[in-house]
Amino acid sequence: MEAKLCPQCQNPMTEREFPHLSVTSCAGCGGIFLARADLGALIEAENDWHAHQSANTAALPRITGDTPPPSLVARSRAYIETLFGA
Ligand SMILES: [Zn+2]
Repeated sequence: MEAKLCPQCQNPMTEREFPHLSVTSCAGCGGIFLARADLGALIEAENDWHAHQSANTAALPRITGDTPPPSLVARSRAYIETLFGA
């Protein structure tokens, strides 16, 4: 299949599959293209991310002597960052 070209900058675009949606993105300009249904899936995934995984809503773990130190890897602030994170 021939690669789609970005309508903005004409670079080839890459399609990536995720559990509930596929995203076509351009490495040249950072453009993102979604089907309407995939945009809805992305919004739902974003809402789920904040409802269940927010630092402000997640229950604090019980800290014991066996509790490992916290990870130094910064957690994404939003689901969409997990799709396009560096
Ligand atoms: Zn582009």
